[in-house]
Amino acid sequence: MLEVGLTGGIGSGKSTVASLLVKLGAVVLDADVIVRQLQEPGKPVFVAMVERWGESIVGSSGALDRQAVADRVFGDEEELAALNSIVHPAVGDEMARRREELSGTDATVVLDIPLLIEAGYHDLAGIIVVDVDPEVAVKRLTEYRSFTEKDARDRISRQASRADRLAQADVIIDNSGSLADLAAEVDRAWMWIESLARPPLDREITRIRSRAESLED
Ligand code: ADP
Repeated sequence: MLEVGLTGGIGSGKSTVASLLVKLGAVVLDADVIVRQLQEPGKPVFVAMVERWGESIVGSSGALDRQAVADRVFGDEEELAALNSIVHPAVGDEMARRREELSGTDATVVLDIPLLIEAGYHDLAGIIVVDVDPEVAVKRLTEYRSFTEKDARDRISRQASRADRLAQADVIIDNSGSLADLAAEVDRAWMWIESLARPPLDREITRIRSRAESLED
């Protein structure tokens, strides 16, 4: 297995890149998708969240009301820390489980994880950053993803800066052009990924375990 990280600010085109990489043959492990799966009604993360914030965070369909959760935690450091302490270890465990399942195969695995470096993924073969001018991201989020301009700007300002993200990059995917241009950029990144050496199996397993254990400390 070969593992690379994928990161990019909201509206950068990271989801679009992830699906193009899947078409090229990558296995994408998306932390946001895992979070949503772990938050399905009755799952331990869901239960722990309802224990903390009560039924007001459950919508009429019985599913988590994400907006209600956001209203409770954003802008309140203590509540946000509580949310992270419920969600992060569970996602880390699930991610480690899925990586272990893939280790020993010849899969090319793309880890789509917000705050990749901060979350302790230091030992990947490389990091891909999807980059776009934040003004373009705001425009796309309002045009295609029905964000208000204020919401788009708020979300962007809560994330790492463009410069900080670029400083982590081994490969930059420039998404300032058309969707066809983006596909060409992704093809170029894929050629680079596939040129990387695959680590030996024993090192893979040690890496995954030692990260999962460091999360539990
Ligand atoms: P992210 O996952 O980084 O938040 P998305 O991949 O959802 O971003 O992209 C944001 C929106 O912009 C989506 O609706 C997507 O289809 C659109 N988009 C992405 N890249 C381009 C592009 N190069 N040209 C036009 N629209 C784009």
